Amino acid sequence: MSKFRKGVLFGDEVTALLDHANEHNYAIPAVNVVGTNTVNACLETARDINSPIIIQYSNGGASFFAGKGLSNEGQKAAIIGGISGAQHVHQVAEAYGVSVILHTDHCAKKLLPWVSGLIDASQRHYETHKQPLYSSHMLDLSEEPLEENIDICVEYFKRMHQVGITIEIELGVTGGEEDGVDNTDIDNSKLYTQPEEVAYSYEKLMAVSDKFTIAAAFGNVHGVYKQGNVELTPKILKNSQIFLKDKLGLASDNPIKFVFHGGSGSSREEIREAIDYGVVKMNIDTDQQWAFWLGVRDYYEKNKGYLQAQIGNPDGDDIPNKKFYDPRKWLRVAEGTFQKRLIQAYEDLNCVNQAV
Ligand SMILES: [Zn+2]
Repeated sequence: MSKFRKGVLFGDEVTALLDHANEHNYAIPAVNVVGTNTVNACLETARDINSPIIIQYSNGGASFFAGKGLSNEGQKAAIIGGISGAQHVHQVAEAYGVSVILHTDHCAKKLLPWVSGLIDASQRHYETHKQPLYSSHMLDLSEEPLEENIDICVEYFKRMHQVGITIEIELGVTGGEEDGVDNTDIDNSKLYTQPEEVAYSYEKLMAVSDKFTIAAAFGNVHGVYKQGNVELTPKILKNSQIFLKDKLGLASDNPIKFVFHGGSGSSREEIREAIDYGVVKMNIDTDQQWAFWLGVRDYYEKNKGYLQAQIGNPDGDDIPNKKFYDPRKWLRVAEGTFQKRLIQAYEDLNCVNQAV
């Protein structure tokens, strides 16, 4: 029997999985998805690699799931898409035999109605299914002053905790640009979180529950860029662990469960070092986007002569090309290259065969 239930995890199950990762020195890939192709590719990979997975929707990913043609006024499309996307995962995760943490990515202050709408949906889901729709939500108030950041997170955390939802918060700022949020010109000092800020947040959140994770900035940057003036410094995380352990007299060397954002392009050594310092979740988006595109690009290059008209190809002027342009053909190839890149992430994160 495997350690973790198959399907979407919640409450103590999430804590148990993240604690297991912390104790056994691995981190779980948290993959941004935008539709059923990427969700299914995630589940197929997790099943084949025999490990859990974190599937997450960004605000833009959630509204995309509902469709770009739907109005997003008042976060309507992002809430509906977030619910619809979650329901798809609930329907198929157990069938794939995979343990899933279902999560939403960055939610800045102006997007709070989105997560609030999803918590409402989880409360309704809880009444009939005895579990929330989402395992966890991230609130990213890192642009606000620290006290305001944590006050708002605590307020939401109290609601989430009632139905077994874990919270992820952000301290410091992840550089770069993602999902329409541009932090490319941010002051460099903000890219490195201070241990005092982590300790302050830890104590405030602990007063509600232990079901939280912290995304602390250590020079990480969203997206992939040429080498710049920001340096990845995982040691920042270790400093916070030591500070907190000493301050509160804790037994564990890594009392804080950290999340690694903006890790695209990082070396395996940097990733493993961050895991040593308590990273249990690593967000993977940009590299997966590229991998999906690579499948489409290569498919087109390989079959170019068969993709110029519905009828007529290098084999003859009257031969139909339906079996080449059927979206299932090229989307499946893209799923394949997506999976190949995700397997590499699982290996980097020391997360192969962790469900047994
Ligand atoms: Zn992020």
